[in-house]
Amino acid sequence: MQAGIHPNYHEVKVTCACGASWTTRSTIKNNELRIEICSNCHPFFTGRQKLVDTEGRVSLFQKKAAKSKALQEQMAARKAGKPETAQ
Ligand SMILES: [Zn+2]
Repeated sequence: MQAGIHPNYHEVKVTCACGASWTTRSTIKNNELRIEICSNCHPFFTGRQKLVDTEGRVSLFQKKAAKSKALQEQMAARKAGKPETAQ
């Protein structure tokens, strides 16, 4: 092995937001790696529906969808209240 060209490959402790932790090897600077999702809690492995909302995009969409639905109901109510002009 040539000296001075290889990154420091050492053992690191991986900790997930769900609480799972294990050790692996990496070239990262610190000895701890914090992650948001792992194979213990990812919906693909758990089979459970879970949305990963990191930037608030999901809640933003849900808010928009609720607003749109309310508007649609309002329009439908207005339409139903009006008497038919045809015939
Ligand atoms: Zn996890």
